[in-house]
Amino acid sequence: MYNFELDTVIKEIEKRNAKKVLLQLPDGLRPYAFQLANKIREIKKIEVILLGDSCYGACDIAIRQAKELEVDLLIHYGHNLMLDFDFPILYINAEINLDIEKLIEIVLPKIEGIGNIGLVTTIQHVHQIKDFADALKAKGINIKVGKGDNKRLYDGQILGCNYQVAKSLIKEVNCFIFLGGGEFHPIGLSITTGKPVLIVNPYNLKTYFLDDSEIMLLAKKRYASITKAKNAKNIGILVSSKPGQNSLNDAQKLVKKITGKNIISFIIYMDEIKQDTLNNFSEAEIFVDTACPRIAIDGIAGVEKPILTIQEMLVALGELEWEKIWGSNYISLKYQSVY
Ligand code: SF4
Repeated sequence: MYNFELDTVIKEIEKRNAKKVLLQLPDGLRPYAFQLANKIREIKKIEVILLGDSCYGACDIAIRQAKELEVDLLIHYGHNLMLDFDFPILYINAEINLDIEKLIEIVLPKIEGIGNIGLVTTIQHVHQIKDFADALKAKGINIKVGKGDNKRLYDGQILGCNYQVAKSLIKEVNCFIFLGGGEFHPIGLSITTGKPVLIVNPYNLKTYFLDDSEIMLLAKKRYASITKAKNAKNIGILVSSKPGQNSLNDAQKLVKKITGKNIISFIIYMDEIKQDTLNNFSEAEIFVDTACPRIAIDGIAGVEKPILTIQEMLVALGELEWEKIWGSNYISLKYQSVY
């Protein structure tokens, strides 16, 4: 199903004369890891090491491990460039080809009379987004695809923490189509644009609107966490060492801002934010997540205390208005704008 682009990988290995490479795959691609690594090793007769640590996104690039292992090249699958590193990295999107005709058939009955519609997707399908949009246009649908930046974001591409291409269309569209599986991206899309989201799942060919009541429930949960934070006296500020999630400076600013107002707060520094780690810091009444914002918003199963984003903490401190960010700017990796 995935395009592993073995030719591209082999060419890059040859170009760099690499003798040892580290292969980093997200969980969904790990069932193919041995086959893929074996092909590379057989073709190029080089050492191939598989990374076993987490790989959540373009933020989670194994630079430290690649340097520790002294590999000549890091091959990262499933995400595209988010940060610049002074290390050789090859990004492979792991594209999946879709049956566009079939998708058009299931989408058309759902979008009659909606007017202008925005189209977004994930890295696995960006290569077909134009074809999908053109096919919808040919059926008379007014579809728009937000522009990427030609380097870190493709046209129409969204990430769990970046909805920039969708936000650029907010004034022009009545609804968004999300082409992809699951509700992780559609939920983010809904709370950062305030628009209805039609999910078009190419894997099971199901298409349905994201449930409003689910979003309302999420809003209530988020607001309940903010309310708890207003009275918290012991606060853990979570910082991840993952390269694209490390917001130590913002965490330090936050500690300065809140400590002393009868509140004790400390930075808790770690690679991966996990249930056991947090629960063991049992003195903390709440945690503020400066790493991936989805850790706070989507939650971690089994964590006993509320986890807030920085923006939510600023709402608790009375420095931001919740109504002004919900449905427009609720998820962001760019905290600087809120200080
Ligand atoms: S910060 Fe979170 S949402 Fe953003 S790329 Fe990383 S894992 Fe995905």
